[in-house]
Amino acid sequence: QAYLDRIAEHDERIGAFLRVNNDAALEQAAAIDARRKKGDSLGPLAGVPVAVKDLLCTRGEPTTCASKILSEFRPPYDATVIEKLRKADAVLIGKTNLDEFAMGGSTENSAMQPTRNPWDTDRIPGGSSGGAAACVAASMAPLSVGTDTGGSIRQPAGLCGVTGMKPTYGRVSRFGLVAFASSLDQIGPLAHTAEDTARLLEVLAGHDKHDATSLDREVPTYSQTIGQPLEGLRIGIVPEQFEEGVSEDIKSSVREALKVYESLGATVSEIKLPHSKYSVATYYVIGSCEASSNLARYDGVHYGYRTSSKEPTRDEGASEADNALVSMYRRSRAEGLGAEVKRRIMLGTYALSAGYYDAYYLKAMKVRRLIRQDFDQAFEQVDVIAGPVTATTAFKIGEKVDDPLSMYLVDLFTVSANLAGICGLSVPCGFDGAGLPIGMQLQAPPLAEALAVSTPYDIV
Ligand code: GLN
Repeated sequence: QAYLDRIAEHDERIGAFLRVNNDAALEQAAAIDARRKKGDSLGPLAGVPVAVKDLLCTRGEPTTCASKILSEFRPPYDATVIEKLRKADAVLIGKTNLDEFAMGGSTENSAMQPTRNPWDTDRIPGGSSGGAAACVAASMAPLSVGTDTGGSIRQPAGLCGVTGMKPTYGRVSRFGLVAFASSLDQIGPLAHTAEDTARLLEVLAGHDKHDATSLDREVPTYSQTIGQPLEGLRIGIVPEQFEEGVSEDIKSSVREALKVYESLGATVSEIKLPHSKYSVATYYVIGSCEASSNLARYDGVHYGYRTSSKEPTRDEGASEADNALVSMYRRSRAEGLGAEVKRRIMLGTYALSAGYYDAYYLKAMKVRRLIRQDFDQAFEQVDVIAGPVTATTAFKIGEKVDDPLSMYLVDLFTVSANLAGICGLSVPCGFDGAGLPIGMQLQAPPLAEALAVSTPYDIV
């Protein structure tokens, strides 16, 4: 009730939620409490409200992906992570806003509403899990679940001053996650502290026979690593992440944080990730290619929105016979999908076309391998890699909407973890001169989530 009250009081201004489960959440909480009173054993998140990004399927309830094309879609099943949350006795408090189909870095691409940064409501909360980060930052939920294809958990966590983790590719089942770029997408937790993040990850992680890419490896008790001594932890930093283009406040906050680690016995040394300068270009080729293929299913027939117009579009080359069908596809997609989603579909379709495939997709796949090899080599020398999450703190709403390229560059420090499949934590480490939160990223090798959450930066 307390969290629902906060949502009622503040969310009109913030816009973090697309849907709040007012009655259902209270009923769920009452049922859990009744079981508690009976002396039943309860799950690890018993009674804890959890907000979920509206890219995850919830049975019988709207799952919109913040897209007009899915505005009426109600999936017939729960995503595996939703099932796991229910089993853990969490209370599903609502679904949070995002950039349409998770394509964006500011939550301005939502077809439903913008989300505002609770620290300064003229600014973006980051994205694409902007609602998930903002609702935790504004204490409208203690925990939330987001997704990260190129930074969408870590970047909004950083810009909203909360903690968020992108787990290793395959650590969390993606069954029931609406696909954006299947080789990059990963589900992960957001919370106030690293400890809460760890506890939520314990519930979300694990093998699932419904997701062939999920890893059949035991789930460690991540929360137990919290507070363990950092003596001997080898931290690597990449000099380019502390050069021009990164705000002075961010550089100095991250450096200050590193001093704390050193005072606790960790060592800091420089490492090289020579191919990371190609990571944004590589990501936007691969991500768009996969998106163009995944989003082909929104054809006006299988799911969601269908145009009401019966007027044929004048498609050169279309025969009279197929014109009605082709027109229905074209109009449904034209009316149902937003500008950024169309941009990705066009980029991806182009890059996958005969004659271009080798030059773009295949080349990007080769560079992706080099990026992964850079990390493999770096992790022979260090245990974790630390650096800023973003080059600037939260920018103003509207500032970058007409400049997709500068929006894409916001992902500079986060996309390589997805390309390499490793894990990354974003943890608050200070504020800039304007009082906006600054995030530090800790990247760790595949399945070394425990290392990343052992940060001493367990602060709100
Ligand atoms: N900002 C990136 C993009 O627009 C990352 C999005 C994400 O991780 N879902 O693709």
